[in-house]
Amino acid sequence: MYPDVMDKLVSLCKRHGFIFQSSEIYGGAGSVWDYGPLGVELKKNIKDRWWQAMVRSRDDIEGLDAAILMHPRVWEASGHVAGFTDPLVDCKTCKGRFRADKLGDARCPQKPSKRPGEWDACALTPPRMFNLMFKTFMGPVEESAAVAYLRPETAQGIYVNFLNVQQSTRQKIPFGIAQIGKAFRNEITPGNFIFRTREFEQMEMQFFVEPGTDMEWFARWKADRMAWHLALGLDPDRLRYHEHTREELAHYARAAYDIEFDFGGTLGFQEIEGVHNRGDFDLMRHQEYSGKKLEYFDQVRNKRYIPLVIETSVGADRVTLAVLVGAYREETVAGEQEGRTVLGLHPALAPIKAGVFPLVKKDGMPEYATQLAGDLRRAFPVFYDESGSIGRRYRRQDEVGTPFCVTVDGQTVTDHTVTIRERDSLRQDRVPATAARAYIEERIGA
Ligand code: ATP
Repeated sequence: MYPDVMDKLVSLCKRHGFIFQSSEIYGGAGSVWDYGPLGVELKKNIKDRWWQAMVRSRDDIEGLDAAILMHPRVWEASGHVAGFTDPLVDCKTCKGRFRADKLGDARCPQKPSKRPGEWDACALTPPRMFNLMFKTFMGPVEESAAVAYLRPETAQGIYVNFLNVQQSTRQKIPFGIAQIGKAFRNEITPGNFIFRTREFEQMEMQFFVEPGTDMEWFARWKADRMAWHLALGLDPDRLRYHEHTREELAHYARAAYDIEFDFGGTLGFQEIEGVHNRGDFDLMRHQEYSGKKLEYFDQVRNKRYIPLVIETSVGADRVTLAVLVGAYREETVAGEQEGRTVLGLHPALAPIKAGVFPLVKKDGMPEYATQLAGDLRRAFPVFYDESGSIGRRYRRQDEVGTPFCVTVDGQTVTDHTVTIRERDSLRQDRVPATAARAYIEERIGA
């Protein structure tokens, strides 16, 4: 079993400015998190890689940024008003609320060694269905006709724009539409840091295909998406597929696989992405509810049809957590008493690519290092640090996953060479200061 590093990670993330609890000075808002200076860079790097892989590097997928607020009928058509529910149980003793189908993951607030219902004092009500959508009102009047929802997934913005995108880009089937955006779910039991939150970001792609070719495309996307996670540097032993059983499958879905990551400890393997064959359900429903035809016209074969949809849906926050969990390690260093904590992030994901340090704060070294940091910053994010011992400065960069540290020492000022230390191997190379940029760029895949 992989160790549970969650508590250590939460504290590292706060200490170094990756992730803070939302509204912390007011005691925090329930399971909502803010990304700090390093966290926003890490998450952005993950989102950029997704956008690059799914949109920019392909000619058969178009990007979209649909609004969070949509016409309320969208959520009737999609089935969310009637069916986006979880079974909820209340405890009459502690007033706690739990998801009836996830009691195994929950703890009794009054007796944390027990699960809800396991302790004599627990008094659980029978389950009732609870809709997870956040409700609000559009316009100044708070009446039922003005009800709006914060979207619980980004996909519906893609379906309702299917023909707008297809006709404006003149894409031919098969093609896809992708978007990254916020989604909101009033989760009953959020938790595990940024694993399950009430406000999160999704990266979703809907691929429209001709009926009969759907299972072939489904198999391709299933493989492609796993390859993307592996390319982030996630350990292959911690990734697996989970095929939805007949009972798990949504009634309209033809097939579905989750990609799961092993978060360690008791959390273990959990879904980070879903790949679904949704058939024609969504376009059919929107056609029915809007009264507008959502057919595709194949000009070559003079044929009209509703395409089938293969969906890939991944949480940007969940992948960020998987990347952080997978990267966290504590290790001893040969010849040193103190161990070190390292975030072994893939260099392309690391928020800072290079730390630049003067060995000491004299003899022209700070000026030289400041100038070098400025030069390198034009190519990638750099952190300049002159405070504390050089060892402490290295450790600080190790803890935030910086792959390279460049040190300016007494020799630099005379022969214009610097040392570059690599985070994982601790190997140090002496290179001309003018070659530092190319040396690092070559290794971070920037
Ligand atoms: P779960 O069973 O964990 O509630 P789900 O099956 O409802 O998830 P989907 O609707 O398939 O999830 O959402 C697609 C992806 O969005 C998930 O794989 C996950 O990465 C992300 N996601 C869903 N809900 C949340 C949440 N509350 N917080 C963070 N990410 C989420």
